[in-house]
Amino acid sequence: MIERAIGEEDFGARLAFDRGAAGRRAVAVPQWQGRETPLPAAHLLRDSVRLPELSQGELVRYYTALAQRNFGVDTGSYPLGSCSMKYNPKVNDVVASLPGFANAHPAEPEAAQGTLRILLDLQRALGAITGLPHVSLAPAAGAQGELAGILMIRRALEQRGELGKRRRVLVPDSAHGTNPATAAMAGFTVTQIPTAADGAMDRAALAAELDGSVAAMMVTLPNTLGLWETGIEEAARDLHRVGAFVYGDGANLNAIVGRVRYGDLGIDIAHLNLHKTFSTPHGGGGPGAGPVCASTALAPYLPAPVVVEGSTGTLALHRPRESIGQLQQFHGSVGVLVRAYAYIRTLGLAGLRAVSENADLNANYLRVLLEPHYDLPHPRRVLHEVVFSGSRQRKAGVRAYDIVKRLIDYGLHPPTVYFPLIVDEALMIEPTETESREDIERYAAALVAIAEEAERDPEALEEAPQHTPVGRLDETRAARRPVLRWPGPETEPCGSKGTVER
Ligand SMILES: *Cc1c(COP(=O)(O)O)cnc(C)c1O
Repeated sequence: MIERAIGEEDFGARLAFDRGAAGRRAVAVPQWQGRETPLPAAHLLRDSVRLPELSQGELVRYYTALAQRNFGVDTGSYPLGSCSMKYNPKVNDVVASLPGFANAHPAEPEAAQGTLRILLDLQRALGAITGLPHVSLAPAAGAQGELAGILMIRRALEQRGELGKRRRVLVPDSAHGTNPATAAMAGFTVTQIPTAADGAMDRAALAAELDGSVAAMMVTLPNTLGLWETGIEEAARDLHRVGAFVYGDGANLNAIVGRVRYGDLGIDIAHLNLHKTFSTPHGGGGPGAGPVCASTALAPYLPAPVVVEGSTGTLALHRPRESIGQLQQFHGSVGVLVRAYAYIRTLGLAGLRAVSENADLNANYLRVLLEPHYDLPHPRRVLHEVVFSGSRQRKAGVRAYDIVKRLIDYGLHPPTVYFPLIVDEALMIEPTETESREDIERYAAALVAIAEEAERDPEALEEAPQHTPVGRLDETRAARRPVLRWPGPETEPCGSKGTVER
């Protein structure tokens, strides 16, 4: 009995605020030896604010226990489709945190010539990788890179005097959701292009939309079905013939890096997600980097700043002549940019090719292992990810949602579900290039076992997950009525004036 009670300390059940006791302290800071300057009384914090009072040991145990409940790429496979949750070399974190990079003052960028040199070399490397030589590293995320690209197209059309008549952006229905959202934010109307039976865009439907009212097409490449967009070169030529631009969403470049260049396909501008392909871990909401890479025609509109080299070899930050302006304070997420530079220099072209070859090999291996057990709407060779449909299991009353919740009981992270929207009960799995053969086989074996469970005992899957600290959450309520402050509405209300009455 006693052992049980001891073992049952539930670190998730109570916040640090509800633990400990008055007067306990975690760290004894040495006494300040200088003269004390009291804060002005008006700025004194309220004495009544209750802060957690824990000893150092209690605090360490509390946070260690919470950290152990976390799931990340460092604890297991994390094959969220479209997100490239791969293992990123830790050495690149070390490089990015070297004092010369980490302590550079953002208001004195030109004093950090070494950092600027790296940024200039990274601009050139990304230009070479994409075949779109004019690069701005400023955007802080993929979606911001998209917005920059579409605003650049908008500015180019404005200068041609065509903005008034070119109001439409074409977006295949297999595109990432940020594509139509970006076009709408930039003031365009979105025309959806349906997907054909082979999983590429319907070229006849595209042809029917092409006229002088089209500003651009935004195409996710590879598309969100994980498929190569067959005929993209011809499609780009058709767009150019009616005077429109082609935007390439390159967030998932790990599918083709080192083997295909967007510029060669006829794409005018693309963004990349350095926090997916180029070695920055992500998933916690940033920071990221979504550089835009442009053709010569669009280069004058790049977002500021770009790094340029003066005649004396001194590097400077530059605002392109017709720039759409600055997207955020300072010069982008420099730590993320340094990681990408280190990654590219470490791998070289041969290594980058191996990245995309292994990303595709892994996804295709998973496809072959799972094809007998799950429906595959577009049965052909995939690139970096594979999108199955849970429609066969749905007939037995099991939803894609039940399948992936059950995966958690196997200790595995679910894939992306219900996206892309054009696949019924979508299960979108991206193993990434860094998973081993054994990891992929383990993941496939769990999904095969679940497919068998779905036939044998479909109701049981509704109870999953059963081996986690919490079971099924009310996700709608969590999104609609999030509890974002302590204490939450179901504990005790906060007193007036920000104090907590107990
Ligand atoms: C992740 C992703 C984006 C958005 O990138 P963020 O950095 O999250 O803004 C856009 N397009 C595609 C295809 C993506 O996979």
